[in-house]
Amino acid sequence: MIAFQDVERAALPPGEVLVRVAYSSLNYKDGLAVTGKPGVIRKYPMVPGVDFSGVVEESSSEAFTPGDEVVVTGCGTSETMWGGYAELARLNAEFIVPLPKGMTLAQSMGIGTAGFTAMQAVMALEDQGVKPGGREVLVTGAAGGVGSVAIAILSRRGYKVVASTGRTGLHDYFKELGTTELIDRATLSAPSKRPLEAERWGAAIDSVGGDTLAGILRTMAAGGSVASCGLAGGAALSTTVFPFILRGVNLLGINSVNVSNARRREIWARIMRDLPMSLLDKTITVAPFDKVIALGEQILAGKTRGRIVINLNM
Ligand code: NDP
Repeated sequence: MIAFQDVERAALPPGEVLVRVAYSSLNYKDGLAVTGKPGVIRKYPMVPGVDFSGVVEESSSEAFTPGDEVVVTGCGTSETMWGGYAELARLNAEFIVPLPKGMTLAQSMGIGTAGFTAMQAVMALEDQGVKPGGREVLVTGAAGGVGSVAIAILSRRGYKVVASTGRTGLHDYFKELGTTELIDRATLSAPSKRPLEAERWGAAIDSVGGDTLAGILRTMAAGGSVASCGLAGGAALSTTVFPFILRGVNLLGINSVNVSNARRREIWARIMRDLPMSLLDKTITVAPFDKVIALGEQILAGKTRGRIVINLNM
């Protein structure tokens, strides 16, 4: 059962650092957790909330001292560790990073797991040699959290970005993020008997999966790379090996949970470098904590736009 409850501080799980939570966020995974759907929470009782930012209140770790502003994104939180939909959270220092300089606690949750994953995906593509100035880069689930932040980062870096969306009416929103090139998401997920179609994309960031990912693979240019992040449209993948063996396409898996603390800090540093906070602000809607379950239903229905920041003090 999912419910708002008062819990004694002593009931918090053990950990080196106690954080007073200021903000959390709403990711697709949070939508699953707060509506009681399977696949995220692995044990009860559980405080959901994959991400949180706040101020250190107590610390037995040398890495943090009381008063430090910190950020936590998905690291087992809301799965096996208590998360950020609470006023206090306690966990070990290895999962925590300092709030990057130049970013507010609210903005860090505007990024959250979705934005962190978008940055990871861009870095994974770059590791395969993808550079600005090449062929178009496709972003699917474009109006969602991962998609919106990915578009903002890629456009700022100088890539030619094409947004695949079911909401082509959000033209002005996508324009603000940095692209006017939109395709209807039904185009990519349409069935096809052909294992390969005309080459178009130099790279892709996909948070939809299913038939959409199959469609992306059929239309990748030779040597292109796809970062597979999510399954908003389905987990099953029905494809052929032809994109891989005839076009040398790379399918890259992105996992934002099992990431070392050192790597997390690198990714946050890249976010600060590549994502102007003014652009991020265009993706953010701030909502009070008591709206989190209703918003969870909306995110699963594909009705939220960009990133939802949850204010624990509202
Ligand atoms: P959002 O709900 O914010 O975005 C998902 C977007 O996908 C929607 O906005 C919509 O975009 C599109 N979409 C939704 N339903 C469908 C559908 N049935 N068919 C096609 N497209 C659909 O979620 P997030 O951005 O937070 O997460 C996206 C995915 O990435 C989720 O599956 C999530 O679990 C996964 N994820 C994975 C991570 C990892 O570590 N690998 C980390 C973070 C997220 P539009 O309206 O523009 O079409």
